[in-house]
Amino acid sequence: MSASPPEEPGIAVSVPSERVPARAILPALYQLVEAHTRESLAAVAAEGRSISCKAGCGACCRMFVPISDVEAHALAALVERMPEPRRTTIKQRFAEAENRLADWRPLDTLIQRSSTAIAADHDQMLADYFRLGIACPFLEDESCSIHPDRPLVCREYFVTSPAELCASHDRRREIKGVKRKFVAPALQYLTSDTTPPRSTVMPITLVLRWVSRQTGKEGKRRGIDWLKRFSRILQDLAQHHRLTQGKQP
Ligand code: SF4
Repeated sequence: MSASPPEEPGIAVSVPSERVPARAILPALYQLVEAHTRESLAAVAAEGRSISCKAGCGACCRMFVPISDVEAHALAALVERMPEPRRTTIKQRFAEAENRLADWRPLDTLIQRSSTAIAADHDQMLADYFRLGIACPFLEDESCSIHPDRPLVCREYFVTSPAELCASHDRRREIKGVKRKFVAPALQYLTSDTTPPRSTVMPITLVLRWVSRQTGKEGKRRGIDWLKRFSRILQDLAQHHRLTQGKQP
């Protein structure tokens, strides 16, 4: 089934017509991000700036890369589909990352389930996480080994500032990012049934652990219903951003 998200009339995406888990609409969201990215990169070029991100620079892959429950399920399924011995290698990297994080603080404190999304010590936690220097388990030779399947946040993130700034959390306020449309943050609220909706966010290093502890089945809706729900959340986030920042996202 093809549909245009209400606030994106120029972009038609295809979603399954049957009832599916939310992760089944990820390919449609990838298309949205790619369309937004093309616009943003054209705007950057028109301003005479250029993107610093390139293969071989994986500094941002050591940050707290925030992943929603929806993409956690997708990444766990991706790992399960990997042939051996690659699957075991990747799982070992996840286990090593979990062990290092567990030596630092209780792992459950790194998984946020919140309507406000921001804990009081959030900034400090991000800084401390980065200082641990734990690479995303999918990072190989400083490049993404799952590039076609990488999460939305990795697709949306580009900088125009010098690459060395990304390697220092202390200088993160000097990083100049490219305008984004909050597709990845909106996904964090998609499966919530509460009012107001609560986000589910975890670092990419904990997605296998989180999925392995889920006892219920993933909820299902028709693809178009997931997409409409997603569009409403995206609009709400954009509105919230306009109210709090006084400008367009
Ligand atoms: S999924 Fe790929 S791009 Fe994203 S943090 Fe991991 S290695 Fe980096």
